[in-house]
Parts: sequence; structure tokens; C-alpha cells
Amino acid sequence: MPGIMTLPEIKVPGDIEEVLYSVKAKNPAEPEFHQAVQEVFDSLRPALAKHPEYRSARLLERIVEPERVIMFRVPWLDDQGNVQVNRGFRIEMNSAIGPYKGGLRFHPSVNLGILKFLAFEQVFKNSLTTLPMGGGKGGSDFDPKGKSDNEVMRFCQSFMTELWRHIGADTDVPAGDIGVGGREIGFLFGQYKRLANKFTGVLTGKGLSWGGSLIRPEATGYGCVYFAAEMLKSRKDSLDGKLCLVSGSGNVSQYTVEKLLDFGAKPITLSDSDGAIYDPDGINREKLAWVMELKNVHRGRLRKYADHFTKAIFTPAEANLDHNPLWNIRADCAFPGATQNEINAKDAANLIMNGVKLVAEGANMPSTLDATRMFLDAKILYGPAKAANAGGVATSGLEMAQDSMRLTWSRDEVDNRLHQIMIAIHRNCYETAEAYGTPGNLVNGANIAGFLKVANAMLDQGLV
Ligand code: NDP
Repeated sequence: MPGIMTLPEIKVPGDIEEVLYSVKAKNPAEPEFHQAVQEVFDSLRPALAKHPEYRSARLLERIVEPERVIMFRVPWLDDQGNVQVNRGFRIEMNSAIGPYKGGLRFHPSVNLGILKFLAFEQVFKNSLTTLPMGGGKGGSDFDPKGKSDNEVMRFCQSFMTELWRHIGADTDVPAGDIGVGGREIGFLFGQYKRLANKFTGVLTGKGLSWGGSLIRPEATGYGCVYFAAEMLKSRKDSLDGKLCLVSGSGNVSQYTVEKLLDFGAKPITLSDSDGAIYDPDGINREKLAWVMELKNVHRGRLRKYADHFTKAIFTPAEANLDHNPLWNIRADCAFPGATQNEINAKDAANLIMNGVKLVAEGANMPSTLDATRMFLDAKILYGPAKAANAGGVATSGLEMAQDSMRLTWSRDEVDNRLHQIMIAIHRNCYETAEAYGTPGNLVNGANIAGFLKVANAMLDQGLV
């Protein structure tokens, strides 16, 4: 480790609890960030015991501190000519193993703490993909719901008018996330190109005729199902015939359903922020095509599903309920694909009681810490987000490679690479969990494997 040899004498820091305490004190009112750090630190104990050099180099204190935080005003005009003001963010968390990489989220709940949790997770996830990408995340408290295309365009142009000076194909490469799909990436890319006078791979999730990659829209959902299939294989089982709960109905959930159908499974639920549908007959390809048209073209609400397919039941979301009814349906597998903390301890208890044997996380941090512990204690197959949903960013990495080479790969080529990457991520998590004394615990496996690569790069690069 050449970097560490050149460092001056440094005080050996306190234990993990001390660092966690300081994270909470220095970043008040950011509960999601605290939760993400705590989950990773809990897993790292066996790795830190084996590698005292990380402690003496104060790796933990450094890795929780973003390299750079950018926060800015986004003024724009609505269709009535009124001035609107939103807040924009980009968290450049860690560039030890590659340019910052991670999505942009447009949702009214976005704040600094949520983006820091997402950027922190992204560092370890990107490390697991086998590709050279650092971690970042950004977005705005802008709500695209109910806005016209022109309003979304004016917002995106104003957002990029500040962001463009901080990003670049070799510096920081944003992508989509909640509320940022193909339409938004188009408006953002168009404005970047005008300002920078450069046509480069500065964003991923682009349209196919202007630098995008086949399979990128499908990648997170497909990857999550590939990962689930590997988890089941480790217990000599398969997805064939399995009843599956899926939450959300956006990009990740739609392609999770599509790939589940390819594997012979039977998806029976979907949701949006207004509520959930349960279709006991299963969501087949025809119904999925209808949902895609509803969500991606008409930008409609899921409750319409139950009007159209009359055997389905719609349950409206209830803010005061202590559990989500979607997770209280008899099934074999669960694929949370909406948002953070959508599975609490009660939901986890319901899932386990109803016979769910596998949870594969498409959304980021959809399970609370208590729910995660319950899945691990119950010894069901539990695929944490940073491993199970890494297919999206991995395929963004493949889009970056194609942009750099000015080549496009076929659908089969990209899908095959994605599949191989998900198999490799599963194997890495599985073997690392075993090597560090917690066989079957893919949370530990993902966190330790993701951490080691970044930590070693940071050591090699000196005091960065
Ligand atoms: P979309 O915007 O396409 O869809 C999000 C879905 O989740 C919608 O159905 C939305 O409902 C629902 N949802 C969002 N927020 C809430 C909320 N607070 N309560 C209830 N429902 C909510 O986003 P994606 O599918 O891209 O992202 C979903 C999850 O997957 C996120 O956690 C994201 O970080 C994660 N992810 C996405 C990746 C990608 O490649 N897109 C990559 C890796 C992870 P409504 O329409 O009513 O808001």
C-alpha cells in the first residue's frame, strides 16, 4: 500500500460507534443518510478487524464525507408566466475508482440528506459492477407530475444551465432516477450540448439515435430479476411458477415484471403513490403493455388498472396505516421497486408470515434497518439494493464505453453483458460473505466487497 507509507503519523480513530456518532452530529436532520451509513458500517466490522490499515488511515471518516456538494437555485417560468423556484443538487461523493456516476431524482421529497444517502450507496454499488465508476447523485425538489412537457423542458434547461459546469464525460456522468426518464434526459442533454458545445457521453439513459444504449431502460429491472434467479439457484430453486409481489410502476418495476414473465414467474401486484393493484390472475404481457402506455405515454394513475381489468383490486394508499397492504399478500417473492423505506418491520413480518422466501430490492434502500435484520434473521434470500439493482448503473457504464468508442452494441450483446455482470456481482457478494464469516448474508457480502475496492484505491492514492 504505497499511499499509506507516505502519510504522517496519525491518531488512530475511535471505533465505528464513534464515527457514526460524529456522522449524526455533523449531518443533523438527515435520517436516511444516517441509516445508509449505519447499514454499511454494521457490515464492515469483520473487514476492519482483518485490515487495521483502514482504521489508521481514517478511511471511515473520509468515506462518509462527500468530495464535493453543489447546491443551486433553479428558477423557471410555468405555462401561466409565473416565476417558480426550485433547489438543485449534485453530490460528488467519491471518485477513487472512476468519474462520479449516479442518477438525478426529481421528486418533491428530495433534500440534501436523501441525496447523500443515495450518493453513499452509489459508491459501493458502482464498485460492485466491476466497471470503473465513482459515486454521485443529484436532483431537485421539482415535481414533474402534472406539469406540461414545456414546463418540464424549461425546468430541465434551467437546471442544466448551472449543472453543466460541474459535469463531463470524464468528470461526472448523471443519469435518470425517480421522475427523470427519457424525456428529461433529452431536455438536459440538449441544453448541455448548447452550453458546452460538445457532443459527449455526459449523461446516460440517452435516446438510441443520440448516444444511448439498447437495454439501458430495461437494465435495472432485468438485472434485479437476473440477481434473484442467481439467489434462487444457490438454493437449487428457480423463478418458474413463483408468485411475485412488485411495488412501484415506473421504469424499474415495469421491466422487473417483463423479465419475471420471461422466467415463467407470475407477478400479481404494482403500485404508485396513490395505492396498489392486486391482480390474482397475474399481470401478463398484454396487461403490462397497457400499464406501460398508461404510465409512460398518458402519465396516468394506476387506479385505472382496476377499472380496465375488472378482476383486479385497487387499494388506495393510507398515510396513517402502520403497514403497506401490498406486502400482506400471499406470495413467494417480493420485488420492492418504488422508493426508500417502503418496507418497515411490520411489512417484513407480514412478508415472512405469508411465505415470501426471497426479497430482491429494485428500489434504493426500500427496507428499514429493522426490516433488513428480520429478513437476515429469518434466513430468507435477501438481495440488498446496492447489489440487486446495480444492473442499471452497470448498463450506464456500458453506454459510456460505447459512447467513448463511438460504437453501438446489439441488444443481445448488451443484455448478455448485463446478465454476466449480475452473475458476477452475486458470486462476489456470496463469496465475500463466506470469506468474512457470515455465509449467506449478502448485505455483508455487498458492503464488504464494495468497500474493499474503493478503500484500497483511496489508500493507493494517498491522503485524498
Ligand atoms: P420512476 O419515477 O420511473 O417510478 C417510481 C415509481 O415509484 C412510481 O410508480 C412512483 O409513483 C413510485 N413512488 C415514488 N416515490 C414514491 C413515494 N414516496 N411513495 C410511493 N410511491 C412512490 O422511478 P424508477 O423506477 O426509476 O425508480 C424507482 C426506484 O428504483 C428508486 O428507489 C430509484 O432510486 C431506484 N433505482 C432506479 C434506477 C434506474 O435505473 N431508474 C437504478 C437503480 C435504482 P408515482 O408515479 O405516484 O410517484
